[in-house]
Amino acid sequence: MICEICGKEIFGRPKRIVVDRAELTVCQDCSKLGEPVAERRPAAKATSPRIIARRAAPRISKELLESEVCEDFSERVRRGRIAAGMSQEDLAKRINEKVSVIQRVESGRMVPSVRLCRALERTLKIKLLIEAEAEEPIPRARPGPAPHEPTLGELARIKRKGQ
Ligand SMILES: [Zn+2]
Repeated sequence: MICEICGKEIFGRPKRIVVDRAELTVCQDCSKLGEPVAERRPAAKATSPRIIARRAAPRISKELLESEVCEDFSERVRRGRIAAGMSQEDLAKRINEKVSVIQRVESGRMVPSVRLCRALERTLKIKLLIEAEAEEPIPRARPGPAPHEPTLGELARIKRKGQ
């Protein structure tokens, strides 16, 4: 092993140093001329932030895409079509779409556009789009206990009163 700075034979353990960003194998004496090479794991440090970025991006776009279309759209379209007595071809013709579009929507592989949803809703008399107004409080849909649950005794009394 030869020192890359002075060119002499290295006795003992060769030293790895950095001089002007170049890594050199040098002898004991020349090792003072540069910074010792630090223990590095270059791959691990570089990849982890990239993975996080890649994971975050599709989640946002997926939420945006599906925000207006109900989650079980594929099931609703399929049931609605069968209830209407239509084949996938019939439905495609009625809404002026390709059969492959109907197939992809019914299998859940394609989220229908708002325009396509409206056409399907009209044709099949189903609901696919989640309207902002529909989420206004509907008393029955509210979770949690009712304000007052009548006890068995009270129910019996109500019944007796009614008779
Ligand atoms: Zn040397």
